[in-house]
Amino acid sequence: MLVLGIESSCDETGVALVDARGRAVPRLLSHFLHSQIDMHQAYGGVVPELASRDHIRRVLPLTHAVMREAQRALADVDVIAYTRGPGLAGALLVGAGVACSLAAALGKPVMGVHHLEGHLLSPFLSADPPEFPFVALLVSGGHTQLMRVDRVGSYALLGETIDDAAGEAFDKSAKLMGLPYPGGPHLSKLAEQGDGAAFKLPRPLLHSGNLDFSFAGLKTAVLTQAKKLGDELENRKADLAASTQAAIVDVLVKKSMSAMAQTGLKRLVVAGGVGANALLRSQLNAICKQRGIRVHYPELHLCTDNGAMIALAAGMRLQAGLEPLQRAYTFDVKPRWGLAELTTA
Ligand code: ATP
Ligand code: MG
Ligand code: FE
Repeated sequence: MLVLGIESSCDETGVALVDARGRAVPRLLSHFLHSQIDMHQAYGGVVPELASRDHIRRVLPLTHAVMREAQRALADVDVIAYTRGPGLAGALLVGAGVACSLAAALGKPVMGVHHLEGHLLSPFLSADPPEFPFVALLVSGGHTQLMRVDRVGSYALLGETIDDAAGEAFDKSAKLMGLPYPGGPHLSKLAEQGDGAAFKLPRPLLHSGNLDFSFAGLKTAVLTQAKKLGDELENRKADLAASTQAAIVDVLVKKSMSAMAQTGLKRLVVAGGVGANALLRSQLNAICKQRGIRVHYPELHLCTDNGAMIALAAGMRLQAGLEPLQRAYTFDVKPRWGLAELTTA
């Protein structure tokens, strides 16, 4: 069964084709991605209207590239999946509109996929796929959540950020240091040359006794430190970057370990853009090894948004018998949409 997946929730247009056969993990046949980072960089963040217009330009050429590389025809596709939410409404509408139009023209069913379910299941496309049940640490540009995942379609929220997401903390701190958008990868690169213990930055909610996160205060602390440094900032930027990264990673690792202890599970899955962070990976690997916990990540290039995770999530939901296939080509998008809402009895 061939599933085409279209991702357009924010600033990357992604299209992919998977083969979802039997009960095996869907196999990725081809995927293409166009990132709008260069276009938004001049504005220091995503401009929604520009994002929507660019998705319109990219989505069909990418779809044709995917079909060409997989050496399949659109008529061979069995299901067309798109990101229904959460994300930017206008950007989501492009993917939804194109998916439903293609499906109507081809007489195929469509499926609206939850973007975070895509992130969360993306490690299944790696060389070391997880097994259920597991705890998921979802760390992206818009979300920071710990979830208990018992099977496809069963997501229980254990804790989440009460303000900024971890990716947002990276991006906003990086911006304060004058680094380009999106700051996460730039800050982490700069941090390699710095000392993570150079500045004492807060670890908010570390001892809150629950699994919630808070990163807004950290950003303020970074700003205060940057102001205090004044002219010295330029010389100490790598140290400040390393200290910021150390604070974020410290909280993510400790809260993840609390979630493991609380659930008693021995498997941790990390997903979302911040899951690409090298310090986070090395610290989690070390502590998980000590505690007999298996930890799984998406392939580096599938940590941030992509079409492969959307096609994969659609394929896995179909295999789990979760989706009534829809042949009515009306669509809506859900810019705000909690993953736990997907959970079925
Ligand atoms: P959401 O999925 O919550 O809607 P999003 O799609 O914008 O948000 P992702 O694409 O999953 O988020 O991730 C983008 C985020 O990941 C950005 O905040 C970016 O800075 C961060 N990021 C990417 N690579 C790294 C890295 N190596 N270190 C730290 N942060 C990173
Ligand atoms: Mg992005
Ligand atoms: Fe995302």
